[in-house]
Amino acid sequence: MEVFVEKFADLKILRYKLNAFEKLSLQQKKYIYFLSMAARCGRDILWDQNNQYNLKVRKLLETVYKTYSGKRNQDIFKDFEIYLKRIWFSNGIHHHYSMDKIIPGFSKSDLLGFIEQSDLYSVTYKNEIDDLVDVITNPEREAKRVSLDSEKDLLDQSSMNYYNGVSQYEAESFYAEKRKEFSEKAPSFGLNSQLVKEEGILSELVWRIDGTYGKAIEQIVFYLEKAIPFAENALQKKTIEILVEYYKTGDLKLFDDYSIAWVKELEGNVDFINGFIEVYGDPLGIKGSWESIVNYKDHEATKRAVTLSENAGWFEAHSPVNDDFKKEEVKGVSAKVINVAMLGGDCHPYTPIGINLPNSEWIREEYGSKSVTIENITKAYFDDSLRNGMLEEFAASKPEIDRAKKHGYLAGNLHTDLHECLGHGSGRMKAGVSPEDLKNYYSTIEETRADLFALYYILDEKMIELGLVPSLKTGMAEYDAYIRNGLISQLTRIEPGKDIEESHMRNRQLIAGWAYEKGRENKVIEFFKQSGKTFIKVNDYGSLRNLFGELLSEIQRIKSEGDYKAAKEIVETYGVKVDNKLHVEVLARFKKLDIAPYSGFLNPEFNLIKDDHGEVVDVCVEYADDFAKQMMDYSERFGFLQP
Ligand code: ZN
Repeated sequence: MEVFVEKFADLKILRYKLNAFEKLSLQQKKYIYFLSMAARCGRDILWDQNNQYNLKVRKLLETVYKTYSGKRNQDIFKDFEIYLKRIWFSNGIHHHYSMDKIIPGFSKSDLLGFIEQSDLYSVTYKNEIDDLVDVITNPEREAKRVSLDSEKDLLDQSSMNYYNGVSQYEAESFYAEKRKEFSEKAPSFGLNSQLVKEEGILSELVWRIDGTYGKAIEQIVFYLEKAIPFAENALQKKTIEILVEYYKTGDLKLFDDYSIAWVKELEGNVDFINGFIEVYGDPLGIKGSWESIVNYKDHEATKRAVTLSENAGWFEAHSPVNDDFKKEEVKGVSAKVINVAMLGGDCHPYTPIGINLPNSEWIREEYGSKSVTIENITKAYFDDSLRNGMLEEFAASKPEIDRAKKHGYLAGNLHTDLHECLGHGSGRMKAGVSPEDLKNYYSTIEETRADLFALYYILDEKMIELGLVPSLKTGMAEYDAYIRNGLISQLTRIEPGKDIEESHMRNRQLIAGWAYEKGRENKVIEFFKQSGKTFIKVNDYGSLRNLFGELLSEIQRIKSEGDYKAAKEIVETYGVKVDNKLHVEVLARFKKLDIAPYSGFLNPEFNLIKDDHGEVVDVCVEYADDFAKQMMDYSERFGFLQP
């Protein structure tokens, strides 16, 4: 299966692969099948949450797309198609990332022309068409979905659809009042409703089966109930039953009960999210956008994380850190790695690469959280990165490119596992020292420490012994990539003339820059020029590993002793400033590659295979290959709130 599907505007459509899906049991496959149906039934909810005109705009444009009788191969109609694809991608008329309204490549009269030559029989709101055309083409209207300019009323300047006729002050007071009765363990008030003001009175329109969005929620519940008989264990069954009860009543207390049951369920292979979860779409951070992800465990990758965790003690004992700063007993964090089987709502087509839920602070404290990495999404990103030209443009040599292609994926994952499962948990603080002592440098120092722990061990023979890598080539590929990224390619993400602000980017430049300086005399790492372009290469992997060990020891000391002065010194010297000349060169080279910055994903389709008696005997995966076709199909099959 080819990962890349198509590219338009600043967007790219990719596909993810369902690793080892065929190895799941029939029961698990059926479970995934029904959960995947439920995962798509709330699509229209999200569209309406994002903006009050979205569903009407979508239907109008899809009607034109389907029935336009004019010339389809003219440039201006192509612009129309690109605009429609962009709003499908964003689940509405605003850019999914910048939140700005998407400006179409056609004019108002072009659009009116398209509409004139289309068959609008199914559009029931004909008297509103002129207004919708204005919404689409007038840049002043509905200009930004979420605006965070705190100088003004946040609700006034944001055109999401979570509030109606309510000011920021009114909304904030309304929820502050509700929370007042609870000292702690308060439900997430406001998470599942629109707040409206009518005749001076504030009230909530709750999203539940007999309330707002009822038609879509009814379908979600229908498929969740269908899934229950195929659950893998009693706790999964109970989790779905509570979720269904919550969708029926809208009672947020039940949503907390559901979250607690969900976070406790760790035995099953299949898991899912379905509900009003993340609050980024609301400038006040109260209202949850509807989303869903259905997933199953990746046994291979999970094994890797478990092996590291089980050997956590060995790694701590053998690290180059001063014994005073080592833990006497360490427990590795066992991360779970999953494959997604279906994305829905706010996770589709644009999707996260990890999940860390629930969001409720008191539930996290009392019951913990589930944190997972999505293997098949990161794999799709990696495969795509091999074909976008970045590697050929910035890698120093053919052997380096070949090594990256062959070992880079495992190298990157192993680095992440070492960083997350062992790095952050390693080391100990001196008595009386706290993380706050490093103030604003804490997170950079902490990320530096975890990265160095990973870099030091990824080139250790122990990796081969534990069966985690086939050879030390994996570690070498990681060193190439880390140095190249830290000193050259990550500059593509910094605006011209700016310093590095983000702590992960700071820590990467700090490590690569420090190692370059310290190994300069012996040319451990070397810059060189070829055809006017700057490259960097590692000459001596063993010495570089020793340098990483040396720096790890110093960074651990800084953290353990809370040495603010040393933290500041090392971060400011190596992590912040950018070489301006190199930066300009790198940005120019990057621009030529014309890489779309955002990727979204096509979902697969599941086919039920039946025997002569109509009994389902298997569930097969079919990979879709046409974005527009999938979007039109979804509007047709899951368009439960169609205007
Ligand atoms: Zn980290």
